[in-house]
Amino acid sequence: MAKFKATITAKAKDKTVEQIKRYLQLNDYEVKVTVDPNATDTVVTGVGPAPLKNPTLAKLAEQMGVLLPKTSSTYDLVVVGGGPAGLAAAINARSLYGLTTLIIEQYAPGGTAATAINEIDNYFGFDDGIDAALLCHKAVIQAKKFGAEWLPSYSAATLKLSDDPTTTKHKITATSAEGSPDVTVSTSLILIATGLVPRKLTQPTAAAFEDQGLYYYALPGDAAGVTAKDTIMVIGGGDSAGRAALMFSGKGAKVVMLIKDTLTKDMLDEVSTLVKADKNITVVEKTEATKFEAIKAPSPDNPNAKLTVTANNKASYNVTAVYALIGADPQDKWVVDAGVTIIRKKPDDPVGLVATGLDIFYDAIKNGTFDSKKHADELKNLTDMGTNKPGVFAAGDIRFRAERRIATAAGEGTEAALSMHNYLKAHPHVLDVEAGRAAPAYYLA
Ligand SMILES: Cc1cc2nc3c(=O)[nH]c(=O)nc-3n(C[C@H](O)[C@H](O)[C@H](O)COP(=O)(O)OP(=O)(O)OC[C@H]3O[C@@H](n4cnc5c(N)ncnc54)[C@H](O)[C@@H]3O)c2cc1C
Repeated sequence: MAKFKATITAKAKDKTVEQIKRYLQLNDYEVKVTVDPNATDTVVTGVGPAPLKNPTLAKLAEQMGVLLPKTSSTYDLVVVGGGPAGLAAAINARSLYGLTTLIIEQYAPGGTAATAINEIDNYFGFDDGIDAALLCHKAVIQAKKFGAEWLPSYSAATLKLSDDPTTTKHKITATSAEGSPDVTVSTSLILIATGLVPRKLTQPTAAAFEDQGLYYYALPGDAAGVTAKDTIMVIGGGDSAGRAALMFSGKGAKVVMLIKDTLTKDMLDEVSTLVKADKNITVVEKTEATKFEAIKAPSPDNPNAKLTVTANNKASYNVTAVYALIGADPQDKWVVDAGVTIIRKKPDDPVGLVATGLDIFYDAIKNGTFDSKKHADELKNLTDMGTNKPGVFAAGDIRFRAERRIATAAGEGTEAALSMHNYLKAHPHVLDVEAGRAAPAYYLA
C-alpha cells in the first residue's frame, strides 16, 4: 500500500506523463492520472505544497524532499547510486564517522530494490515481509535524518582522480538528462554503488515505445488500472518476469509471455509452477520479439491494445503494454575510464564488475603471476571494499562477488563505510577522522 497520494492532470498527448507517474510510484506514491484535452499544461498535485506545472523529475525530487539538497561543492564522501548499497553507506558514513556525504542518483532513490513487485520477505527484522518501495523509502528517510545530501536526476559521468598525495581531492562530474548544467564536486572518498541497469531490447523498432507502452521494470502500481480487457506481454524468463505475469493475470488480464529459452530454465520452481497453472497466462517458449509498431485499430475484444508485437518474425500480438524484464548489466564507462580495475566476464566486454580487496589482483592470482613482495604496500593498505584507486570504494551489485540481494547490498554499503574509515586512519593527511569533525563524539568515546 503506497504511503502518499498524487494526482496528474495531463494535457493531451503529453509523453512525460508516464515518466512522471512511474517516478512517483517508485517513490511510494499512489498516482491518479486524468487527461484534460483542453489543458495547455500537465499539472501534478500532492507533491510539495503547491501544484507543479510540467515538472521535471529533478523538480519532483526536490519537492518530495526525501533527502537534503546539495549545499556544497566539496564533500568528504560522494556516493554514486542511491540504492540499498549507497544509502547504507551514506547512513553509516554520516552516523558513525560524521563524513559530509553527497549522493548522486540518476533516477529514483531506493535503486533497483524499489522496483521489486514482490514483498521483500528475506529482509532481516521484517517477519511479515515488507513492501520494496516502503523499505527503500524508509532507508532514504534514515539517510536524510543523518544529514546526507543528494543531487537527484544527475548521472556521474567522469571521475578525475587526484594524484596529489597532500590533498587527494578527486573530482567527479555529473550530467543531467533534463538539460541542467553539469555539476562538478570535489571529494576525498568515492563510493561506486551504481548497481545494474535493466537490459534493453535491441530491436530498432522498440526504442520509440520506451515509457510509452514498453517498460523495463514492472511496478505494483502498473497493475492498478489493468482489467480483463487488457492483454499484457511480458518478455523474459526470469523470476521477475514470472512474478510480473502473475501480477497482471491476478487482475484478470490475459498475459502472453515470450521466453527466449524455456519457462523452467531460469525461473524459480515456485514461480514457474504458478505460471504454468495460470489459465490467463500463455507461455510462448523459444521465441523473441522481433518488431514493435503502433496498433492500427484495436479490436472489440481487445479495446485497450496500444501496440502490435511481432514474434520470431511470424506471429503478431495486439497488446496494452509490454514489460521486457530481460536482465541487467553494469554500465559504468566512467569507472573504467578512471582506471578502476574491472573484472570482465569475457575479455572483449566493454564493462564489467568492480574489483575490490584482493580481487584487485584477480587476473594475476588466476594466472599464477601474482608477486606478493612486489605488491607489499598495496596489500598492507587493502580494505575489503576498496578498489585499486586510493579513496575509491565499491559496494552492492556493481561489485565483483556481490550476491545481488537487498540485504547483502545494504551490508556491503555498511562495510564500505568501515573500509573508508580504515583507509582514512591509515592516510590521515586525506582527512583526519580521529581529530576532525569527521569523528562524532560517541564514536571517539
Ligand atoms: C524486480 C526485482 C526484484 C528483486 N527482488 C528482490 C528480493 O525480493 N529480495 C532481495 O534481496 N533482492 C531482490 N532484488 C535484488 C535487489 O534489488 C538488488 O540486489 C539491490 O537493489 C542492489 O542494490 P544496489 O544498491 O547495489 O544497486 P541498485 O539497487 O541497482 O541501485 C543502484 C542505483 O544507482 C543509480 N545509478 C546507476 N548509475 C548511476 C550513475 N552513473 N550516476 C548516478 N546514479 C547511478 C541507479 O539509478 C540506481 O538507483 C530484486 C531485483 C529486481 C530487479
